[in-house]
Amino acid sequence: MPNKIQKITAREILASDGNPTIEATISLANGIQGCASVPFGVSAGEHEAVTLVDGDAKRFNGRGMLQACRNIESTINQRLTGWDAINQKKIDNLLIKLDGTKNKSRLGGNSLLAVSLACARAGAQVLQLPLYKYLRKIYSIKSNKYILPKPMMVVIEGGRHADNSTDFQEYLLTVNGARTVREAVRWGAETYQALKNILKSQSLSVNVGNEGAFAPAGIKTNEEPLSLMVSAIKKAGYLPGKHISISLDPAASEFYEKKDKQYVLKREQAGLSSSQMAALYRDWLLRYPILSIEDGLAEDDWTGWADLYKSCGKKVRIIGDDLTVTNPERLRLAIAKKVINGVLIKLNQIGTLTETMETVQLGQKQNYWQVVSHRGGGETTDTFMVDLAVAVNAEYIKVGPARGERTVKYNRLMEIEDELQKK
Ligand code: PGA
Ligand code: ZN
Repeated sequence: MPNKIQKITAREILASDGNPTIEATISLANGIQGCASVPFGVSAGEHEAVTLVDGDAKRFNGRGMLQACRNIESTINQRLTGWDAINQKKIDNLLIKLDGTKNKSRLGGNSLLAVSLACARAGAQVLQLPLYKYLRKIYSIKSNKYILPKPMMVVIEGGRHADNSTDFQEYLLTVNGARTVREAVRWGAETYQALKNILKSQSLSVNVGNEGAFAPAGIKTNEEPLSLMVSAIKKAGYLPGKHISISLDPAASEFYEKKDKQYVLKREQAGLSSSQMAALYRDWLLRYPILSIEDGLAEDDWTGWADLYKSCGKKVRIIGDDLTVTNPERLRLAIAKKVINGVLIKLNQIGTLTETMETVQLGQKQNYWQVVSHRGGGETTDTFMVDLAVAVNAEYIKVGPARGERTVKYNRLMEIEDELQKK
């Protein structure tokens, strides 16, 4: 069997924040190689698959991934050698079994995912298909039309992603009115540059944070970015709410104080209850062209989420990220409790391609928006997430507009568009 896996190797590489992550390579008997690297989050949800680190303080302050690499080269390599690389589902199931824990803490979600994605890349080459087409084939996605995802571009960031900026983690441009991906990316990028000039003119810094978005120190309130963004959209020549809207990812788990059940906003020097947070969002919805709110409340504040959804779910998309962690079980819970109508998809939150696909397809049955996302912490130049978004006709990809590990994602999306247009 020429497609069989001959060897799996892994190594530590540096991620975008200068901390290590892993890259795995699968070599087949016929000489084909599939390679993938995996990211990790800074504001990772509590219910995510574990990113296994060494904890050896002498290397990378404990964040080395040699053990994760060894897990790949020993346990996983031994069991997968000889398997046909195009058996993705079976391989992922074996990976899950080999790990044997609920949160993938034994072998590490990072080890499992690197192998899972490398395997798909090898499989795509076996069938001589671009990755997005291969994913459609192996997961029996029937649509023969490609509806390419639109950019959801982080342009102001704070929270855990930047010092001294907003409490809310992300303010995003959602580009909707463009005819093509290439045009949409341009509109977003032009608005990002217009925002830069506006920030400069107000003596706000234009240094960028983790995701390539501006992280203006000294910004006074969590609301201020919204008016800055509306001005930037107009200045770039677009209509707010028509061509370009705004999305929010407060990442509220990060400023929720469980003990007092309060959302602590340092900028406003206020501690808000869930219902006060929902009231704040409702007020903003009346005054700004907001299209979606992701993680508007903390990851286990289910009653708060239910109220938020009841009061805002008809007007905007309420998106789960830390709430659902790309986990089919958590998503089922969210569906049953009626708390969202959109779901963020991050491969490394769950740790295998097949489980990610299950989450996507579960959400699609509910007509939820699918937003396939980068990670805010250690990203890599791997573009697997883009091919995944294209394969499933996701509504958006959420990626920052600057820094190479982000722009490579938009560039891959434009490349796919070019490829599809040629035919
Ligand atoms: P993270 O944050 O990847 O740093 O966890 C991104 C997000 O919350 O969407
Ligand atoms: Zn988020």
